[in-house]
Amino acid sequence: MNRTGVIVVATLLSLVAAISSLGGMSYLSWTRAQAVEEKRLQSFAQQALQRAQIPFHDASVVLHRLHNTHAAPCSNAHILQMRKITINTRSIEDVGYFEKGVLKCTSWQKSRNTIIQTIPDFITADGIQVSQSMLPEISGKPMVGMFYAGHKVLIDPARFTDIVLEPEIQIAITTSDGHALSTLHQPDMQLVGTLLKGTQAKTGIDSFSVVVRDGELAAVVLEPYGKIRDRLWQEQLIWVPFGLLLALLFIGAVIWISRRRLSPLGELRFAIERREFIVHYQPIIELKSGMCTGAEALVRWRRPDGSIVRPDLFIPLAEESGLILPITDQVIELVIEDLGTWLTQHPDLHIAINLSAQDIKTGRVLDVLQAKLENTGITNRQIWLEATERGFMDMQAARATIDKARAQGFWVAIDDFGTGYSSLSYLQKLPLDALKIDKSFIDTIGTDSVSSNVTPHIIDMAKTLQLNIVAEGIETQEQADYLLAREVEYGQGWLYSKALPAADFMQFCQTRAGAAATATPG
Ligand code: C2E
Ligand code: CA
Ligand code: CA
Repeated sequence: MNRTGVIVVATLLSLVAAISSLGGMSYLSWTRAQAVEEKRLQSFAQQALQRAQIPFHDASVVLHRLHNTHAAPCSNAHILQMRKITINTRSIEDVGYFEKGVLKCTSWQKSRNTIIQTIPDFITADGIQVSQSMLPEISGKPMVGMFYAGHKVLIDPARFTDIVLEPEIQIAITTSDGHALSTLHQPDMQLVGTLLKGTQAKTGIDSFSVVVRDGELAAVVLEPYGKIRDRLWQEQLIWVPFGLLLALLFIGAVIWISRRRLSPLGELRFAIERREFIVHYQPIIELKSGMCTGAEALVRWRRPDGSIVRPDLFIPLAEESGLILPITDQVIELVIEDLGTWLTQHPDLHIAINLSAQDIKTGRVLDVLQAKLENTGITNRQIWLEATERGFMDMQAARATIDKARAQGFWVAIDDFGTGYSSLSYLQKLPLDALKIDKSFIDTIGTDSVSSNVTPHIIDMAKTLQLNIVAEGIETQEQADYLLAREVEYGQGWLYSKALPAADFMQFCQTRAGAAATATPG
């Protein structure tokens, strides 16, 4: 993914994080507000149901007792018994006795008017006939009538809702099949009816409600919607700041990750993961014959947009961060991929691979090389290893690596020779195969600068130490002639070729070989 891609994804992720955190917390506030309110209303409903059972129970006990009375109907003893019950039972307002559907006497007197027994609204499981709302003989207040085997008790409906509630909370006590027994604070009975037919808890447009059932009774509790909105506010006060914090954390994490990803180091790390590196090959020429003897592998970073990043722009960062190790590995793999077959067909040709200071220090690269070359048909002789002075600081480690490399059959060259402070001392102390004279010395050939005097000395010294010499950065024929005259074996530079993609490089070598063959008759 490129920079813009990362920025777009990060922005989208931040947006999603912000929306989902805040949305999630708002939703949580809402469900919690509902749950808390529902629980509160349920406890009211249960309380009301418990209270409502009392008059029901009282009536049942009284009616069964009266059924078993021995007193003659409407005798003084019978009326007295009914009166005692009326006085002593809190929930019972009056008791009456019916014969053939007509009221004969009440707890006060024998009936003077002809009062016909009302048709019951429903009958309970134990056979008690209940009339929801009926007018008693004396007081005008509608009562709940309960009739069993000739006797009828009257109960003040308020007894069924004998609890103290906030004025905005409405309650209806009904039978389980929906006959209202009593209400408190005037609930909408049509809504109560709908709720009784429906599910346990419902949110309407205007009110929030619960329905609780217990045996033959049900309680419907309603409260205005505003109440739950207040509760929502309370919950939001807790959860929305938490959501905000969560969103900020998420966004912070997204920014942190994308900044890391977008930092030069992040980009390099990602490039390694995505294997965005390619290798170009700069031909190395045998100066005497003009033949191509191999190439130096030079890494390039090809970005997803196709642009090529030069190694001097990322190798220092890679060395500093340790990412150079996986890059070296990838270069080795690429060389084998690009030129494996070609190298096995041309066993006299070689490829030089640049090692970093860390590669030299740890020597790890040698095992990697050995493993990767296994079964490729490429011989170790065909691999040259180039190391700069920076890799020789830890002399002991460098020595061990170089010894091991040479024992394995690899060639080892000191790169950029002459540019460091102690090139000379390394040359004496380390067992090397070749020396690459830095381009800055080659540049001085034919000029009268001070360092132009140094170049022949480097060449002589290398010869004394029996090292092969590779001259880097040859740009002119004059430089090439000079080096040839001094019997420098190998050269590389723009005079011959810049670093080329693998196919072009192989083509270059083939053309060179053909040209050399024609130039050397016989
Ligand atoms: P180096 O090892 O000294 O590589 C030679 C550099 O000089 C290359 O630059 C090459 O393109 C350039 N060069 C060759 N001939 C001429 C010439 O005639 N004129 C001029 N002006 N330049 C010439 P490049 O490819 O940009 O590499 C730069 C440096 O990056 C290399 O210097 C090397 O230190 C490092 N490097 C490249 N590939 C790798 C690698 O695979 N691993 C490691 N560790 N370092 C690498
Ligand atoms: Ca080099
Ligand atoms: Ca060099």
